[in-house]
Amino acid sequence: MAMLRDRLMTFTTGLVAFLLAMTVGALTGTAREMVKRDVLRTSAGDVELMFIGHASLMLTFRGQIIHFDPYGKVAEYNRLPKADLVFITHDHNDHFDLKALDAIRKDTTIVVLPPICADKVPDGWIVENGETFTIRNIGVQVVAAYNIVNKRENGQPYHRKGIGNGYVLTLGDKRIYVAGDTENIPEMRTLKAIDIAFLPMNMPATMTPEMVADAARVIKPKILYPYHYGDTDPTRLVKLLQDTPSIQVRIRPLR
Ligand code: ZN
Repeated sequence: MAMLRDRLMTFTTGLVAFLLAMTVGALTGTAREMVKRDVLRTSAGDVELMFIGHASLMLTFRGQIIHFDPYGKVAEYNRLPKADLVFITHDHNDHFDLKALDAIRKDTTIVVLPPICADKVPDGWIVENGETFTIRNIGVQVVAAYNIVNKRENGQPYHRKGIGNGYVLTLGDKRIYVAGDTENIPEMRTLKAIDIAFLPMNMPATMTPEMVADAARVIKPKILYPYHYGDTDPTRLVKLLQDTPSIQVRIRPLR
């Protein structure tokens, strides 16, 4: 009897494991079709960068899933892995989408976001420009993100200073800067040792390719991903940085 029970147990456990593998396989397959990915080596293990679309990114690092600006228009978030950490840059609806955020939250998810988003996510971690902190063994530096030149018809900048956050994450020995909606602002001069930079490149709300090239020459990332580039032709940026071989420009599906 005990033997039969053991066999049944083994069979059941095996079946569950098999079904789980099928589900995970199916999910990974789906995610692979929807997004492209790059791998970055760090001293603490690989980081997988997944380019979901627009300003939405997903990183995996040491078994943790990290989402940036989940936006339901670019992916079915209920089919993507649940988040351990989520970073929100600002309150505009293409960056702060509560439905997409709900779809990837679990009990232990930590949502990091600027004060302007605080009342809609009361249990979030509210962080401001200039703060530095460590969360789940990941170093985070909060950078300002705003417009200086580009303004709406009413004279207000598309993104006002002090509202939005960019984030520099330290993962092992590598530093990844996700800029949020910003222009080439003076605060970028203070950023040190950036390995990867994601810089927004759409007019009129963020930067022209020329502004992105200027920002890149200041930040000096080893790899530059233009993101949130909409209808801007990303090959213009490649041409502008042709004389700067220390910066590798990578174009990914982040329209
Ligand atoms: Zn935006």
